Amino acid sequence: MASDSAPATSGAVNAGPGPRDDRALASRIVALISAGDATSRADLARSLGVSPSTVSLHVQGLIDTGVIDEGGSGDSRGGRKPRLLRIRDEGGYVLVADLGGTHVRIAVISLASEVRAVREIAVDVADGPETALDMVIAEWADLAEPWAATGRLRGVALGLPGPVDVDAGRVELPARMPGWHHFAVGDYVAERLGVPVLLDNDVNLMAMGEHFAHQPPIEHSVTVKAGTAIGSGLITSGRLHRGATGAAGDITHSRVSAAGSTPCSCGKLGCLETIASGAAIVRRLRERGVDVHSTADVVRRTRDAEPEVTSMVREAGGHLGEVLCTVVNFVNPDAVFLGGALSTLEPFVAMVRSQLYDGCHPLITRKLIIARATTGAEAGVTGAGRLILQHVLSERAAG
Ligand SMILES: [Zn+2]
Repeated sequence: MASDSAPATSGAVNAGPGPRDDRALASRIVALISAGDATSRADLARSLGVSPSTVSLHVQGLIDTGVIDEGGSGDSRGGRKPRLLRIRDEGGYVLVADLGGTHVRIAVISLASEVRAVREIAVDVADGPETALDMVIAEWADLAEPWAATGRLRGVALGLPGPVDVDAGRVELPARMPGWHHFAVGDYVAERLGVPVLLDNDVNLMAMGEHFAHQPPIEHSVTVKAGTAIGSGLITSGRLHRGATGAAGDITHSRVSAAGSTPCSCGKLGCLETIASGAAIVRRLRERGVDVHSTADVVRRTRDAEPEVTSMVREAGGHLGEVLCTVVNFVNPDAVFLGGALSTLEPFVAMVRSQLYDGCHPLITRKLIIARATTGAEAGVTGAGRLILQHVLSERAAG
């Protein structure tokens, strides 16, 4: 773990929204240099709103680990010429994989968080962890070949479609991943590649991807994926908020009184998932004799403006919005991003939006961005890239 050792700017503690976290800071420094937005330590201090000593600490760490170097000289502006920072081409890359039920998206990501190459492959998670992971590792090697010649692999990140125990590096009671329960995914991959491995669930990766895709940059966001299932992730100060046991940021199993005692996959009763997810909408419509079979049916028939289906979708959006109100009032994010199939439906999004505006304090909603997710299929791999880069870039000279 990185320590939160960054000293506060002199005399102005908490004076601004600047990032105060080591891991987020190191990856932001790399991104600013890479984009050409900063070429010196002074530029970085200005752009990030942190003290020159904090910048120097991180820049030195990145030089020591071979990610950036510093040389030449820039505009003098009358004083001592600043030395120019640049990303070392040979500094390396990371590999990521976002596993779905029957396919995996893999990518090579540069140290500056740019997607260098991406590929989708057919992998059935139901074949078990060894088969699926061996395929991912083989495809990674193939995809990364052009980069492996000049730079070194720094780390890998995997997104998995189930509950992930991040510290243990394995999944915990996944609903649709037979054979994966308690399999040591992190150890299995680390033994074969010899680099740091991070695991997380697919919605947390999506939350990272959406957060960092937003322009201008933001500090805090909540991302909800509302598809056949519901999930969410929370980013605070540019970092995924994991909480005490890694389960933070998820509203899926918040109890909603309107759901009564409907049983949930988690073993509890009346979770949001049982009333507001695509699967719940399908189940409730069928109970009323409407012939729907999937979330895709619900989406299509809402687009066709079928009254009974549309009304159920609107109701689901209302329940999600009600739970989100508590989260948004409590966290005060810059943005709420809505992803997943249901979030492509205007009646659903409109209900979430009106619940948030009606149910949050005006101070909270004054500048609140409520937007549909924009990164689509790329969110998982770009989010995974951000996560592993925050990790490996903060490993100072020890790396
Ligand atoms: Zn539940």
